[in-house]
Amino acid sequence: MQIAAHTDAGHNKASREDTVLGNTLHDDDRVIEISRLSTRFGEHVVHAGLDLEVRRAEIFALVGGSGSGKSTLLREMILLQRPDSGSIRVLGVDLQTAGDDAALALRQRWGVMFQHGGLFGALTVSENVGLPLREHTELEDALIDDIAASKLALTGLAPEVGAQYPSELSGGMMKRASLARALALDPELLFLDEPTAGLDPDSAGGVDELVRRLRDLFGLTIVMITHDLDLLWQVADRVAVLAEGKVQGIGSMSELARMDHPAIRQFFDGPRGRAAQEQEARQADAHTDTKTERPPSKPK
Ligand code: ADP
Ligand code: MG
Repeated sequence: MQIAAHTDAGHNKASREDTVLGNTLHDDDRVIEISRLSTRFGEHVVHAGLDLEVRRAEIFALVGGSGSGKSTLLREMILLQRPDSGSIRVLGVDLQTAGDDAALALRQRWGVMFQHGGLFGALTVSENVGLPLREHTELEDALIDDIAASKLALTGLAPEVGAQYPSELSGGMMKRASLARALALDPELLFLDEPTAGLDPDSAGGVDELVRRLRDLFGLTIVMITHDLDLLWQVADRVAVLAEGKVQGIGSMSELARMDHPAIRQFFDGPRGRAAQEQEARQADAHTDTKTERPPSKPK
């Protein structure tokens, strides 16, 4: 019974659908809505009237130079920090006015994978993955262990990894274990901060596939911060470029590659941008059956 209550909490949309009939874009399709967001630290303005919308079941990426306010925006979306003004709605809930109960309920509907994993060194991998279930449900230990094992399998880790400690894992395994923990409560929305940072190209490539599989299998909405141009070209449906406190451009990578804004050009015309586009073009040649869109040849 508790399991049913747990899974229903995330996926029962019927009641919300009743209220959105007649809208052209269903409220239910807008998983995150940010409007006129402003954030400053003292004199330093980080967000200056930023607007952004994330749609259900898309893989959405935030990019921007160092210090452009990506992490701050992520922290504001997951209730770890408050903006100075503007509004953020996540899964239909206004974060500014949400009370403690609403905030607690929301935290169970999203999963977060932090950049450095955030696993507890004193707990085994299995205990780390089961932690959200121990905190938020009254499931029995044996069942929590089973769920943890299934999440580890889902992220591609071997069963025996569950008994290991975080310090025994490679970087790629650590990311997967951290992802398994983010998935423990069957979230509708997943936040990933630099999911491939620090990984070798093979491990990073595995993460690309994993992210896409989670969206395709479960209809998860995925919001990621990343500098990884491979990941952006391979899996992001839409990408928002942050600069000067606002979203300067938004669209697929191919669309962004054709935009003229200086912040966007800087993003594409750097050496890493060109290398990623050239690699993408080679892969598109090799696998024309798996790609629907090719990046344009080297933009000016
Ligand atoms: P990004 O993730 O895009 O690199 P951040 O969101 O981490 O950027 O930071 C944006 C800017 O806000 C940076 O200039 C950073 O120094 C500043 N900043 C972030 N958090 C704080 C804080 N708690 N106090 C003061 N300044 C901060
Ligand atoms: Mg950051």
